[in-house]
Amino acid sequence: MITRISFLIFILVITSSAFGQKYKRIHNKAILVDTHNDFPSASIEKKVPFDANLLGQTHSDIYRMKQGGIDVQIFSIFCGPEQQTPYAFANRQIDSVYEWVRRNPEKMMLVKTPAELKQAIKEKKLASMLGVEGGHMIEDKIENLDNLYARGARYLTLTWNNSTSWATSAADETTKKDSLPHKGLTDLGIKIVGRMNELGMLIDISHNGEQTFWDVIKYTKKPIIASHSSVWNLCPHRRNLKDDQIKAIAKNGGVIQVNFYAGFLDSTYERKSLLLRQKHKPEIDDLIAKGTQPDYARFMIMEKYQVETDAIRPPLSLLIDHIDYIVKLVGVDYVGLGSDFDGIEAPPKELNGVQDFPLVTKALLERGYSKKDINKILGENFLRVFKANQLK
Ligand SMILES: [Zn+2]
Repeated sequence: MITRISFLIFILVITSSAFGQKYKRIHNKAILVDTHNDFPSASIEKKVPFDANLLGQTHSDIYRMKQGGIDVQIFSIFCGPEQQTPYAFANRQIDSVYEWVRRNPEKMMLVKTPAELKQAIKEKKLASMLGVEGGHMIEDKIENLDNLYARGARYLTLTWNNSTSWATSAADETTKKDSLPHKGLTDLGIKIVGRMNELGMLIDISHNGEQTFWDVIKYTKKPIIASHSSVWNLCPHRRNLKDDQIKAIAKNGGVIQVNFYAGFLDSTYERKSLLLRQKHKPEIDDLIAKGTQPDYARFMIMEKYQVETDAIRPPLSLLIDHIDYIVKLVGVDYVGLGSDFDGIEAPPKELNGVQDFPLVTKALLERGYSKKDINKILGENFLRVFKANQLK
């Protein structure tokens, strides 16, 4: 009897360690693309550089990206609407990314084309790309769009939560419904979409209002992306995509890069997090009064009260549910990962930072996904869209 039990345990150990090896092997071989990481903003707020060990301070750093098996990282260039000179600010953030690359030539490479991306992966360097999050950063000038493209920006999120004079955001289309001077894309907006198509700059519809979305679908000649959005039907948040939008993106040949933020995955999260914030409101207000951006003041307090924050984070399985939902609705070719790390206060429980990306692969494998499909989700789907945008 004892022998039989030991034999069974032996088999169990062998199979589980074989599984352990399998997910790591698949993960390491795959090209992992994350289309949204807010480290450039976190770097300013927390006064930390990317090439330092920041475990316990941020979600990301150069070492943990390697550990997490990230091959391609699109860094988000971002500033809020309160910024007086957003175009100059965007350029300063780009300068910072350039500086990290310059200091770490053996670890990072700035990537602007699919060929450079391939080369970076071959040289085992982090393919570092730039995406501009918020159309307000071009200050209504196509010339600024061209300049940002020339400096390496490969997507522009047409709006952040604030609308521009030429495109309306999801936030404004829902909360200022009746007072908007225009809705969707204006003539300038249509011109900008056309110019982005010409340049080969990806149109990112995350944060955009539904009218803007449908106008983009009407006018774009290239596949689009949602760089960091999840599924409305699983979590009805204005930042998420409804079924008809997901279907339209699939029809357009684009890709939805699922966001890891608890509030976009779990419909009960925002209520729980509001209670937590109310409890610590005096401390948050104090940070804001001292000049911390409101979002970061919130993040800092939630980090400070880690145990309380952890208790309301959803499980990783919920993130997989969002991926699975898109796959079941339109197929496996239109979904990827846009973590929003360092731009969110709460990712799923198991994912504490970029080092934990292999657990996403493990969870997909456990959900029954094949290696071929996992490769598509981790990066190939995005690469298809990136290449398609380069075609004249
Ligand atoms: Zn965002």
